[in-house]
Amino acid sequence: MNAASRSALLALLLTPLVVAVTLPPGDRPPKVASLQETVGPLATLGRVPIDLHTHSNASDGTLDPADVVAEAAHHGLTAIALTDHDTTAGWDEAAQAALEHGVGLVPGVEISTHHGGISIHLLAYLVDPANPELVREMEHARESRDTRMERMVEKLAAAGVPITLDAVLAQARPGATLGRPHIADALVAAGHVAGRDEAFDDLLHDRSPYYVRHYAPDAIRAVRLVRAAGGVPVMAHPFANRRGRTVSDEVIEEMAAAGLAGLEVHHRDHFGPERLHGQALADRLGLFVTGSSDFHGAGKENRLGENTTEPAVLAQIEEQASSGVTVVRR
Ligand code: AMP
Ligand code: FE
Ligand code: FE
Ligand code: ZN
Repeated sequence: MNAASRSALLALLLTPLVVAVTLPPGDRPPKVASLQETVGPLATLGRVPIDLHTHSNASDGTLDPADVVAEAAHHGLTAIALTDHDTTAGWDEAAQAALEHGVGLVPGVEISTHHGGISIHLLAYLVDPANPELVREMEHARESRDTRMERMVEKLAAAGVPITLDAVLAQARPGATLGRPHIADALVAAGHVAGRDEAFDDLLHDRSPYYVRHYAPDAIRAVRLVRAAGGVPVMAHPFANRRGRTVSDEVIEEMAAAGLAGLEVHHRDHFGPERLHGQALADRLGLFVTGSSDFHGAGKENRLGENTTEPAVLAQIEEQASSGVTVVRR
């Protein structure tokens, strides 16, 4: 949805409010309850400040975990989830900052998975970070990302793109989960492209000749694994088909049968039709719906709180979790 249609939608949603408050004196006061029902969808436009998908420089975000939390406090969010790719390394730092700033922290991770050759990102909330099988899978993915990075850099360099592995590593915090955004940042630093977007459009997208895959577990197995580790699995941006191929509803149905808890419907990579479809599919499969920014610091345009999740959904996540990991609150 572009800015114009978003403000048109806002105006439409706010119309009953304007009517209600301009009633002549002596008329019945505005019915607050029915008004709230009318503007319910506003929750996904930022009224309820819970953002369940953010990245720090523990993976491909640009801010320290503590600074993601500080930024969330600055923007008036009440709770965020830190969901770095294939790592929980940022949790402790974020938790400390959450206590300092009075922001709730939902410890999470965005697990790289695939099904039938299609990449699926699985958000896992309140999962046991020491679960041996989960740890093994995440380590495997990170190691594979390291060797895949070497191979992508070799391919790019062979094609004359000014890039070295050292230049890429210089863009990542030591130990960070490496991803294509770090290549993009190295290309920006070398003055070869203006930003991550341009690097992805020209060189790094999924169908690029320089693209190399990395290990990721099957999505159905990953859903079971997250549940076994006491966590709550939510499929990230399920219909983000502008970035790559997406799976059919049948695969999502299989994931639901394996224990999937929710769908991240409100995400900037989904437009109106995808959001409507996502909500309908979630209703049919008995899944809850989340909204989030997928904030990456300066690495993407995504702004904290641009999509948000209902408090009742966060409450469900907390109810479903059985790992002993809880939301960090002051
Ligand atoms: P990888 O983990 O190496 O597969 O890279 C995928 C990551 O690249 C995603 O998590 C996004 O954060 C990021 N990404 C994908 N497309 C873009 C883009 N056009 N601009 C900036 N970041 C992007
Ligand atoms: Fe990312
Ligand atoms: Fe993702
Ligand atoms: Zn993400």
